[in-house]
Amino acid sequence: MRQAPTVEDYVAGVRAGHRPTLARAITLIESEQPAHGEKAQAVLAGLMPHAGRAWRVGLSGVPGVGKSTLIEALGTRLTAKGHKVAVLAVDPSSALTGGSILGDKTRMGQLSVNPDAYIRPSPAGRTLGGVARKTLETITVCEAAGFDVILVETVGVGQSEVLASEMVDTFAVLMLAGAGDELQGIKRGILELADVIAINKADGDNLNRAKAACGSYRAALRYLHPPGSPWVPPVITVSGQSGDGLDHLWDVITQHRDHLSASGALAEKRSAQQIGWMWRLVEDRLREALRHDPKVSAALPGLKQQVLRGDLAPTVAAEQILAAFGGALSNRPQ
Ligand code: GDP
Repeated sequence: MRQAPTVEDYVAGVRAGHRPTLARAITLIESEQPAHGEKAQAVLAGLMPHAGRAWRVGLSGVPGVGKSTLIEALGTRLTAKGHKVAVLAVDPSSALTGGSILGDKTRMGQLSVNPDAYIRPSPAGRTLGGVARKTLETITVCEAAGFDVILVETVGVGQSEVLASEMVDTFAVLMLAGAGDELQGIKRGILELADVIAINKADGDNLNRAKAACGSYRAALRYLHPPGSPWVPPVITVSGQSGDGLDHLWDVITQHRDHLSASGALAEKRSAQQIGWMWRLVEDRLREALRHDPKVSAALPGLKQQVLRGDLAPTVAAEQILAAFGGALSNRPQ
């Protein structure tokens, strides 16, 4: 296919699992060129009815926690069991630098040449929301191409973790045993997002510390999930390097899937995620429009000055910014 494929070419090629078309379809979706946007949406619309059947798993953790080592090992095991595994990524640094570390094929040498796996680095984007949206759409493409396990890798820092957790069914957080780590996790609110917690690098001298860390997390989780809660996140030890605990990790992920499916919570969770993304995109676009609005830009320096000098209350300044942006917004009901 030398000239640009049509929408039908894309849909048929992706559905047939044709790798070059799959890669090209994702490139189209990731493109920032306005001319590509409409075609990308048409391709997505054609693929949507064929998506939704994969299990979507988020894997998060600070740089160095062992994500790529673990994904390489876990992905290889899953393909050996007959799964088709796509590895995608939400990398917050790709919004700043345009480059991406996460989902880099060179970090997962074996998996990247495995015919039953597909690895795609994090898309670039002007904002983290933009990066995440592209990953969300890429999930649809990969599912329509027949991948039944989607692993979404992200770094455990703030908003990227929240965004990744809102595009997956099961969100697994990798932690390291070590002084203070346990409390950091609790402070960052990560326990609220996690469906599964895995203490990684539980090997060699580190094994006992990892087991002790499990106890701390379980104790902390009791506050969030009192007895009788429908799902209390399991806390397990794992070593991506030795492979110990990897089967257990997949078992608990599968248990979470069964729990969601059996209770009807899966459909509810996915619906809520879709609506959540719809609003997030509306809000992103509004924010962008506000930032680039010439009337707002003209009014802003003066208003800022007045607020800083104490001549104008922030609430009044906010009303004036909204009035500059569009009269209707400032007349909303309180
Ligand atoms: P990432 O930044 O989270 O993707 O982490 P990497 O997978 O690149 O691993 C970071 C470092 O930790 C590397 O030097 C790995 O060799 C090492 N490492 C990764 N997994 C394990 C593990 O399970 N046990 C031990 N002992 N080291 C590991």
